[in-house]
Amino acid sequence: MTQNNKVNALVDRFGRTVDYIRISVTDRCDFRCVYCMAEEMTFLPHAQVLTLEELEQVAAAFVSLGVKKIRLTGGEPLVRREVIKLIQAIGKMDAELAITTNGSQLEKMASELKQAGVNRLNVSIDSLQEDRFKDMTRIGKLHKVIAGIDAASAQGFDRIKLNSVVMKGRNDDEIMDLVNFARDKGVDVSFIEEMPLGNISEHDRAEAYCSSDEVREVIEQYYALQPTTERTAGPSKYYRMSDSESRVGFISPHSHNFCSDCNRVRVTVEGRLLLCLGNEHSVDLRAVIRRYPGDTEKLRQAIINAMDLKPEKHEFDLNDEPQIIRFMNMTGG
Ligand code: SAM
Ligand code: SF4
Repeated sequence: MTQNNKVNALVDRFGRTVDYIRISVTDRCDFRCVYCMAEEMTFLPHAQVLTLEELEQVAAAFVSLGVKKIRLTGGEPLVRREVIKLIQAIGKMDAELAITTNGSQLEKMASELKQAGVNRLNVSIDSLQEDRFKDMTRIGKLHKVIAGIDAASAQGFDRIKLNSVVMKGRNDDEIMDLVNFARDKGVDVSFIEEMPLGNISEHDRAEAYCSSDEVREVIEQYYALQPTTERTAGPSKYYRMSDSESRVGFISPHSHNFCSDCNRVRVTVEGRLLLCLGNEHSVDLRAVIRRYPGDTEKLRQAIINAMDLKPEKHEFDLNDEPQIIRFMNMTGG
């Protein structure tokens, strides 16, 4: 559902209205993408993780405060046991529902996700070469993800978007293959600058850094990109090509800081409300939920109070030690 006309109670000190939340429903994943996770990861014990019911309470509290869009992410959201129950519950709420997934489970789940009320899907795909895909995800099978994208396309979601993190020396030679793949499938594609979240040993993030401007220059050798003012409540800046319905987006946390119109906050699977992707400011919603079970007002008030903690902007420096030691799977990408 999408027509939420409630007055939004979530405004921060800089006058930004928060109407979009990303909820991480698990820190676990069936892939180990090189930029996102270490090969050996320790995951959270179950007691520390919000139950599906607690996650539903969090989502309901935000929607009652005027949030219009919820994105479920992770880890890999679709590998959490019985996650479909949560998706069905949120699907009935008065907000747009989107999911970010690695696509591994989509082939079997696309239809039930559509029926549950999911409006949009983001599917991460960084390579269209089976061997390279396996290298980059350490585990994933490209053909399964492509079968998932096809299954999702057949369901008629409002939008499907591919997300690709571009890294020099790893997949920057596939930019055009990814654009053409998106055009063939009739879906959008966004290119993401890698962010320094968590320590990884696999590659040097500064060396691999590929700016959105560099990616755009490559694409413009083949297709003229018309800037659009279209936004989807997220950080992507979109361009259109004259001969295709597919849009090309850029998510540029380094080169085009998107903080001034930031409208979103994140909730980790431990119930930590993160006010900014690039800072540690947070509020422990799990403590509130478990201390006052069923007390919606306490939870709503904690969320309203948290808005004062939202920092003005993030700073990422690829040459320094990561300031943010949590990995993206903890953050909820
Ligand atoms: N497992 C799902 C997936 O891969 O789509 C959802 C979670 S994943 C953390 C969400 C997005 O974050 C993916 O598109 C992934 O490529 C991106 N991501 C992960 N680590 C990143 C990093 N260090 N910098 C930039 N994007 C990253
Ligand atoms: Fe898993 Fe997504 Fe992180 Fe890859 S990017 S390891 S699929 S959570």
